[in-house]
Amino acid sequence: MLKQEVYGRPLVYLDNGATTQKPLPVIECIRNFHSFKNSSIHRGIHFYSERATEEFENARKTVQQFIHAEKSSEIIFTSGTTSSVNGLAWSFGERFIRPGDEIIISEMEHHSNIVPWQMLCERKGSVLKVLPFNDDGILEIDRLDALINNRTRLISVMHISNTLGTINPIRTIIEKAHENDIPVLIDAAQSVQHIAIDVQQLDCDFLVFSGHKIYGPTGIGVLYAKEKWLHELPPFQGGGEMVDVVTFQKTTYTEPPVKFEAGTPNYIGAIGLAEALKYVTSTGLSGILQHENALLDYGFQQLSQLDFVKLYGQASDKSSILSFNLRDIHYYDAGMIIDKMGIAVRTGTHCAQPVMQHYGISGTIRASLGMYNTKEEIDNLVGAIKKVRDMFV
Ligand code: PLP
Repeated sequence: MLKQEVYGRPLVYLDNGATTQKPLPVIECIRNFHSFKNSSIHRGIHFYSERATEEFENARKTVQQFIHAEKSSEIIFTSGTTSSVNGLAWSFGERFIRPGDEIIISEMEHHSNIVPWQMLCERKGSVLKVLPFNDDGILEIDRLDALINNRTRLISVMHISNTLGTINPIRTIIEKAHENDIPVLIDAAQSVQHIAIDVQQLDCDFLVFSGHKIYGPTGIGVLYAKEKWLHELPPFQGGGEMVDVVTFQKTTYTEPPVKFEAGTPNYIGAIGLAEALKYVTSTGLSGILQHENALLDYGFQQLSQLDFVKLYGQASDKSSILSFNLRDIHYYDAGMIIDKMGIAVRTGTHCAQPVMQHYGISGTIRASLGMYNTKEEIDNLVGAIKKVRDMFV
């Protein structure tokens, strides 16, 4: 992918926040599994089924180790962050939410951490409260205390903003929440690929992320939950495998995590994800972060010097995202010209319309970094932006 050309120029891929390109070992692992190992898991006692089951359960252990969960049974495979949040919102809502109860999210959330909670509120007559951010793109954490009360049942926040790059103070949020016996869900869709996560140290109750944003395949994601929740929460899907005894009168469920994995899971996706996590681990997350931070600082500095560029997200604690607009030039027009120069950036709301509403804009241009990006590619982007300006002014 990264060696391809677009419009006769080498591809500069700066849309890693949307999805990442896959390392060859990940591609090879998936191809190899389809070619030589494929068999449905958990269902057969035949040779290949047992081997596939073992690899799938090993993938679960790899995820467990990657985020430092206490047990592999705390790792539930889903189809991605969106399905993790939706599943949890349904399940948590069924078990714990009554009319008038409250859920807190932040103003900078991705739609996938807004809409499922709104749907729950509509279903249960509960209330969604929103922690705002300031114009620098920093959460107004001092206002959290005023939002928490004895009806607060859950706080759900993103670790890193996909539009602003802000790294949120999730440790403080979790501590404050736990002082009030409130569980916390962390949307780590934009953080696991950049920052080492230790769910036990963080002490979060739930954490979600997608495989395809951390150099793994699409259609696979993770819902981490502390074990105690998995016994209390009802399953969010019914079907094969998640049951113990089924009669027409009553069905009993099996133990977590399989209780939450109805149907044939995306076992090849899970195995591909594990391969991606191994790749990231062997490359070294701290080195990746250092490299990306250097590129981010350089890009931020370069763009700050251009008086026609307006950057969004000025937090000092920031990661991998450059979000900006060019004065008097629509982001779609700019994005199309940047694309013609072989540079893939994203334009629009980035599934975070409330962030755009905060700034009174309808969208931005977003360049998002991955481990394989280079300083030359940032120079290309800056050059392309200058060209856009020259064409329009
Ligand atoms: N949360 C954040 C912060 C994201 O950036 C994204 C995707 O861009 C999602 C959730 C949704 O992820 P997916 O579409 O893989 O379910």
